[in-house]
Amino acid sequence: MHRKASLPSKVCPVCNRPFAWRKKWAKDWDAVKYCSERCRRQRPAVTAT
Ligand SMILES: [Zn+2]
Repeated sequence: MHRKASLPSKVCPVCNRPFAWRKKWAKDWDAVKYCSERCRRQRPAVTAT
């Protein structure tokens, strides 16, 4: 059976959208937290005390 393995995915903490693995993240998928550079530069909504 030829079946494409589903790509891993994560949820971006900034925009709260799921995003799938991309080839450019192959080396550091574990370190990837945000769906895009744009989100990465933003901070997830943190409630300051
Ligand atoms: Zn995002």
